[in-house]
Amino acid sequence: MENPLTPEVLADPVALTRALVDIESVSLDEKAIADCVEEVLRRVPHLSTFRHGNTVMARTDLGRSSRVVLAGHLDTVPHNDNFPSTMRGDLMYGCGTSDMKSGVAFALHLAVTLPDPRYDVTYFFYEAEEIESRYNGLTLVAEAHPEWLRADFAVLLEPTYGIVEAGCQGTMRAIVTVPGERAHVARSWRGVNAIHGAGEVLRRLGEYRARRVTIDGCDYREGLNAVRIDGGVAGNVVPDRCEIEINYRYAPDRDPAAAEAHLREVFAGYDLAITDAAAGAAPGLDAPVAQEFLAAVGAAPIGKLGWTDVARFAAMGIPALNFGPGDPNLAHHKDEHVELTKIRDGAATLHRWLTPA
Ligand SMILES: [Zn+2]
Repeated sequence: MENPLTPEVLADPVALTRALVDIESVSLDEKAIADCVEEVLRRVPHLSTFRHGNTVMARTDLGRSSRVVLAGHLDTVPHNDNFPSTMRGDLMYGCGTSDMKSGVAFALHLAVTLPDPRYDVTYFFYEAEEIESRYNGLTLVAEAHPEWLRADFAVLLEPTYGIVEAGCQGTMRAIVTVPGERAHVARSWRGVNAIHGAGEVLRRLGEYRARRVTIDGCDYREGLNAVRIDGGVAGNVVPDRCEIEINYRYAPDRDPAAAEAHLREVFAGYDLAITDAAAGAAPGLDAPVAQEFLAAVGAAPIGKLGWTDVARFAAMGIPALNFGPGDPNLAHHKDEHVELTKIRDGAATLHRWLTPA
């Protein structure tokens, strides 16, 4: 295959987005696109380029005092009658247009056209973000080459419709167990009904007032929800056990230990077992590099409510945020598309930020 990422295409973020969309790259099938990206980057004299699996990393080494990461995943969800791309007026339709080849196009365009950025830049084009974490290119690189990820600040070019979505909320799942004592329903006074006992747990959930936390100007709205309930033995038995599964989305001023302590307080008196936990990420907008980024964007940031790869950077102590041209509500949809003006504006913003004053 001839590489469609020609110099003319690389010079234009819109044309580049389209060319990237038209290279098929459903998760675990990123070899072709990674080959094209790697070939382009290896030709650029101001970059050192490395590859791990189907993840390609290229970086400047200009001896700047700060290093920033621009990262985008190369994979898409499976096609849904939306490949290859099509154009309708100011809109480009197709799988990956929003999530997130328009963001990948930003990074690749800047990598090639910006020999003298004001910070050292590490460009990351990684595999398998849309599937299980064990395949994720960032996870694999963090294990194999942690030094590739060293930086002071990271921008993930996921769809945010041209605004800054900073940090992300943590997530925790737990099982609250209500005990009881079995008995035949004909002599139910000899037992203790665990399902009835669950009423108190549900009451606490119903009356719970979730926090709203503002950090660095970003609003995070928490949620505490029962997501499953399970109990009962047979049609004629007083049940001795009822389990309520809880999902807690918590603001990034709490770490998993604090989130767990909070759940134990809410459900005091009950047995509570944590089944899954992922730390959130503080927005980290007080860092000078982040402040300069916000100034270049010129619009107020908002808090990211879902969990994203931003948290992987935060776990390494690197403040990170999301910024991309796509509309996050269209990601993974059949009619996924991106506005060409958002691509042009976003590329201009990143240029402003990275161009020496
Ligand atoms: Zn994405």
